[in-house]
Amino acid sequence: MKENKDEEAIRIIIAKIKAAVPKHTFVFTDPFWMLITTVLSQRTKDETTDAAARALYERYRDIDGLAGADPDEVGSIIGKVGFWRVKSKKIVEIAGIIRDRYNHRVPDNLEDLMSLPGVGMKTAKVVLAEGFHRPSIAVDTHVFRISHRIGWSEAKTPEETTYDLERLIPKYMQVGFNPMMVEFGKAICRPVRPLCDKCPITAYCSYYEEKMKKGKKQDHSATGP
Ligand code: SF4
Repeated sequence: MKENKDEEAIRIIIAKIKAAVPKHTFVFTDPFWMLITTVLSQRTKDETTDAAARALYERYRDIDGLAGADPDEVGSIIGKVGFWRVKSKKIVEIAGIIRDRYNHRVPDNLEDLMSLPGVGMKTAKVVLAEGFHRPSIAVDTHVFRISHRIGWSEAKTPEETTYDLERLIPKYMQVGFNPMMVEFGKAICRPVRPLCDKCPITAYCSYYEEKMKKGKKQDHSATGP
């Protein structure tokens, strides 16, 4: 297996993945609607999240609009999203806090973002990287699985994995890393039966190397010494 942790290798791996998957498109790129969309996205399919975020935007337009909204009405708009009851209250609260405490500006640091209701490390880091273009890596199920398969982290939790990856991936490659990995995880490095035969980074992947070793052992035991 090729070295996969030095800067040049990481650059090659990222370039190969990027070339192999569709570019992830965000419905909104401004920090406020990206924050709201990311809160909605927790345990919800992308298509459902995007449709709910668009419908919310159509109805409320901005921070003031959403801060003054009736959570029940918000709930009726986002009813297909997972945990919609809780999320409808939280996103109205978030908009109110950003209006009142932060003077209509989404905070651009981890601590303040994570103090908002319903905002954990993953959501905060998506907003920092993709809304503010600050080096930051959000670890969701795709990033967690793929980075462990490649051999970039052996951490047990998403938070520790975030720190491993932020130490490993050079800062200038961190913006866009999460959305690229999400697409890679959906298209190729899938949770069950990853499509390694279509993968451009087999030479850099620990999981693939192990799989090949096991395959060879099975071949030998099948054919005899
Ligand atoms: S070789 Fe297989 S396991 Fe490794 S990154 Fe590619 S698809 Fe995922």
